[in-house]
Amino acid sequence: MSATWLGIDIGGTNTRLLTLSGKDQWDGFAKFPTASWANTADALAALAALINQVLARRPLSGVMLGLPGILSRDRRHVISLPFIQALDDMPVAAHLSEMTGVPVAMDKDVNHLMLWDLMQLETLPDNAVGLYLGTGMGNSLWINGQFYHGEHGGSGEIGHIPWADNELPCPCGNRGCAETLTSGHWLSQWARLRDPDSDISQLFIRHGQHPELQQFIIRLGKVIAGETNILDPEYLILGGGVLAMAGFPLAALRSEIQCHLRPPATRAELKIIISHATDQTGCRGACLAAARNFGGLDER
Ligand SMILES: [Zn+2]
Repeated sequence: MSATWLGIDIGGTNTRLLTLSGKDQWDGFAKFPTASWANTADALAALAALINQVLARRPLSGVMLGLPGILSRDRRHVISLPFIQALDDMPVAAHLSEMTGVPVAMDKDVNHLMLWDLMQLETLPDNAVGLYLGTGMGNSLWINGQFYHGEHGGSGEIGHIPWADNELPCPCGNRGCAETLTSGHWLSQWARLRDPDSDISQLFIRHGQHPELQQFIIRLGKVIAGETNILDPEYLILGGGVLAMAGFPLAALRSEIQCHLRPPATRAELKIIISHATDQTGCRGACLAAARNFGGLDER
């Protein structure tokens, strides 16, 4: 019997589940508010109950969680999970494994988006950078054929590089982080001030020519080009909910990045691709990560 993996993508708003059997049999997609389990008296037990519900229907070979925060370098400990305080500062995977009897591992959610996108390529590259722009700046680093976690687990925090002449407070506790000016959060605040009666999904359709939104794209391009020049990857993968908004000026972002890339090699050779993430991509990537982590899945 082929192995079955459960991928759980835990976001600040929604939690999504999906199983993978064999190489490509996806099953049991479910999506529900994270608050439905995270705000209970014992959030960890509630999360274990979700896994046990799946186990009641089918045996599982392993479970992979994707979490929107900072994990320890060995991915055993949650270090900072500001949106889900119930799991903050806990060895979440080990506890869940004890409570369910199934191997459980975890990683940053953005690494699962990136893994999915990487595995859509013909061959896995040696070096790639992923930038997934949502409420914050999700950043994934794939270096020498594996995810780079940093010495303390805190790598890929591109949103928290300082931006000159910026004193805005950041949820991380610092002031002046780039993310305060380059994130979906900044866009939603701009929309609230300038056009509070319209749906934010129409922001770029209605106001894409506004100089302040054009400046937003310029800032974003500069930040992304900065990291790309440090790492010189084969691929730069751009995705996330903000880039998927109707009328988002992808061509303008691409040319802003290009014009700051270091010539000649990085500018000429970098492959910039757009992620076509769907609602399921995070948990699909988590299933693939479970297979790699527990099952030694062949790398194509
Ligand atoms: Zn910050």
